[in-house]
Amino acid sequence: MRFSALRILQEGLTGNKGWTPHWRDPEPKSEYDIVIIGGGGHGLSTAYYLAKEHGYRNIAVLEKGYIGGGNVGRNTTIVRANYFLPGNSEFYSNSLKLWEGLEADLNYNVMHSQRGLINLFHSDGQRDAFVRRGNAMITQGDDAVLLDRKGVEKHLPYLDFDNTRFPIYGGLLHPRGGTARHDAVAWGYARGADQRGVDLLQNCEVTGIDIEGGVVKGVQTTRGAIRAKKVGIVVAGRSGQVAAMAGMRLPIESHVLQAFVTEGLKPCIDHVVSFGMGHFYISQSDKGGLVFGGDLDFYASYAARGNLPMKEHVMEAAMTLMPMIGKAKVLRSWGGIMDMTPDGSPIIDRTGVEGLYIDCGWCYGGFKAVPGSGFAFAHLLATDRPHDSATRFRLDRFRTGRGLMDEEGTGAQHNLH
Ligand SMILES: Cc1cc2nc3c(=O)[nH]c(=O)nc-3n(C[C@H](O)[C@H](O)[C@H](O)COP(=O)(O)OP(=O)(O)OC[C@H]3O[C@@H](n4cnc5c(N)ncnc54)[C@H](O)[C@@H]3O)c2cc1C
Repeated sequence: MRFSALRILQEGLTGNKGWTPHWRDPEPKSEYDIVIIGGGGHGLSTAYYLAKEHGYRNIAVLEKGYIGGGNVGRNTTIVRANYFLPGNSEFYSNSLKLWEGLEADLNYNVMHSQRGLINLFHSDGQRDAFVRRGNAMITQGDDAVLLDRKGVEKHLPYLDFDNTRFPIYGGLLHPRGGTARHDAVAWGYARGADQRGVDLLQNCEVTGIDIEGGVVKGVQTTRGAIRAKKVGIVVAGRSGQVAAMAGMRLPIESHVLQAFVTEGLKPCIDHVVSFGMGHFYISQSDKGGLVFGGDLDFYASYAARGNLPMKEHVMEAAMTLMPMIGKAKVLRSWGGIMDMTPDGSPIIDRTGVEGLYIDCGWCYGGFKAVPGSGFAFAHLLATDRPHDSATRFRLDRFRTGRGLMDEEGTGAQHNLH
């Protein structure tokens, strides 16, 4: 089934009776060429690109809950390519290019909106750091525009520019940055993978990984044992737990990240605004809700819900930056589990077990990475070689200390990245 304007018109005129489910609900087979553990954004895009780019058909994605129920459906939907360090920079640049062709590729409206992202700065020193980052982005082939205070005022007149603690000096505008509808990204990849023969197995929790003589043989699940020639672990906040099934101890801590949405309002914020000094960022959804968030809850946890102290902190930061937000009513808040690495950068690599691969450590920035990560992980699974855009995401950098990518410069403390 293809989506088109004509099809929508036809269905509208005939009572919308012709639509079919986006994907099948197959029974697990006893064996697959490749099994992907985790039906989030990264797992689904991996399966999609394995089928599309590498011609695999006998693949299953095993999801313990339902498609889109994890972090892919819990994030604040920001998509950007404004990284500084080699390794991250080329990867996110490649991912953004995939985003820009995604709707046509999937034949699915993921509502990718390149509305521009503005990172605010509040001192001369911070301006220097952003100039450097902007130059790195331009050298990488991405876009960046330095705005002075007047330039920011033109775009974001509703901010408090003269806050005593954080007066606004200017901002770095990334015009191609923006947002996308998170659920639609999961659904679009799921549909695309299913159309290419991938089995999406929901309510299928992996409870064990079968390894014989250092070689992966398959997985144990709540729907029975499944044999596989290759297995990819892509389970975001549960990476540590699932890797432990293969005897691995990952350099990851899991932390909660919360987000908030207000009641629907008339359009008032037409960019993504990031107030790094206050640990606050915001955009407005297409439904009108102001979607915003802040920092991690600083304790390690597997609870996908947050706590009051961080809520208070985020609301304070919001009021500091844009006092007008005090009039809006918060509708909902929620949390997701972040797999934080010690340098804040991800891992896409083989493991010590032959045939077992891992894609994890996306911290709180993995939504924008969904296309790039799936593309690179599919390449690794299919060819046993890292994709050019992801050669530095090696697992052993945490053991050897070589090639660490500490984008934030905060040192080896997971919760500070
Ligand atoms: C509040 C919040 C805001 C965020 N904002 C942004 C943002 O603006 N921009 C951005 O780029 N990123 C953002 N992120 C981060 C982003 O959402 C994650 O990095 C990314 O979604 C993680 O990858 P995923 O989509 O594959 O994860 P998930 O959707 O969590 O997928 C992993 C899946 O694995 C499944 N699973 C786990 N264990 C098992 C098992 N044993 N067997 C089978 N299945 C299993 C889970 O059920 C889950 O569905 C945010 C996250 C949160 C929580």
